[in-house]
Amino acid sequence: MKVNEYYRASSLEDAYRKLQEDPKNVILAGGLWIKKIGQSVNALIDLSTLGLNKISENEKEVVVGSLVTQREFENSKVINSLYGGAIAFATREVMGVNFRNIATIGGSIMGRYPFSDVISGLLPYDVELEFYPNQVMSLEDYLGYKGKLNSILVAIHIKKEKGNGFFKKVKTTALDFPIINFGVSKVNGKYTVVVGNRPAGSIRATKAMEYINNVANPSELDYKKAAEIAASELAFMDNKDASAEYRKELTKVYVKRGLMEVNK
Ligand SMILES: Cc1cc2nc3c(=O)[nH]c(=O)nc-3n(C[C@H](O)[C@H](O)[C@H](O)COP(=O)(O)OP(=O)(O)OC[C@H]3O[C@@H](n4cnc5c(N)ncnc54)[C@H](O)[C@@H]3O)c2cc1C
Repeated sequence: MKVNEYYRASSLEDAYRKLQEDPKNVILAGGLWIKKIGQSVNALIDLSTLGLNKISENEKEVVVGSLVTQREFENSKVINSLYGGAIAFATREVMGVNFRNIATIGGSIMGRYPFSDVISGLLPYDVELEFYPNQVMSLEDYLGYKGKLNSILVAIHIKKEKGNGFFKKVKTTALDFPIINFGVSKVNGKYTVVVGNRPAGSIRATKAMEYINNVANPSELDYKKAAEIAASELAFMDNKDASAEYRKELTKVYVKRGLMEVNK
């Protein structure tokens, strides 16, 4: 990996100006993915003195600064209090503690990694991304956004609502990338189903959601049917870790299980 310049930004405005100067200037968070892919960088822009490493809350939402580490996030009382702890649990599934002490929530979202446990853990909920300069976008819209957003992620806003959540990462060994992952929620009586690393990225299974959300008092058979719909509406592919067929079968099992779990 080659880096020409390390630049410590003095403000968000300063960081943004530097980011626009050269297409090879990049924001530095934990630096783990930047290092892994070994991209050639002109300037690494460090945001570490800008106070983006805090978690706060108000009546309506929890606000997580983009430089909050995965470890701080998963251990936060307020994050654990949301949706039965499902969001915190999803982040706890990434690599080991040493790794999560460095990797950040902002870096996990901005990379839009198709395998992301962090994203599959957040997508079942109402989550908005706050960017500099002045832009707010839902996590779902950001995942669907075509092209590169050359802005700075300042914070993520997680809406506080009544509900329950489920997260499952299927992996071969403890420290692996997922073969596939699942996030399911029931918030204000409405179900959301997310499947990630199919191996394409995390996505809501909208037809399955529409089905189950229109059944009054769903039974186990209805959950099974919703899981089958999810398995048939989403695209799955083969890669070195698993076949499309296997991923489809896992979807039938874990979406059903998730829907049942969030009712407990
Ligand atoms: C070996 C390895 C294994 C992994 N396994 C898993 C796994 O099993 N599950 C999983 O979910 N994740 C996994 N990850 C991803 C990891 O969890 C992090 O998401 C990833 O390392 C990025 O976080 P970071 O803080 O290191 O970001 P960085 O590497 O610093 O940045 C990542 C990207 O985001 C951009 N960026 C960062 N912060 C901002 C910001 N505030 N504004 C704008 N752009 C920004 C950077 O410019 C860069 O392009 C793995 C990563 C590695 C290296």
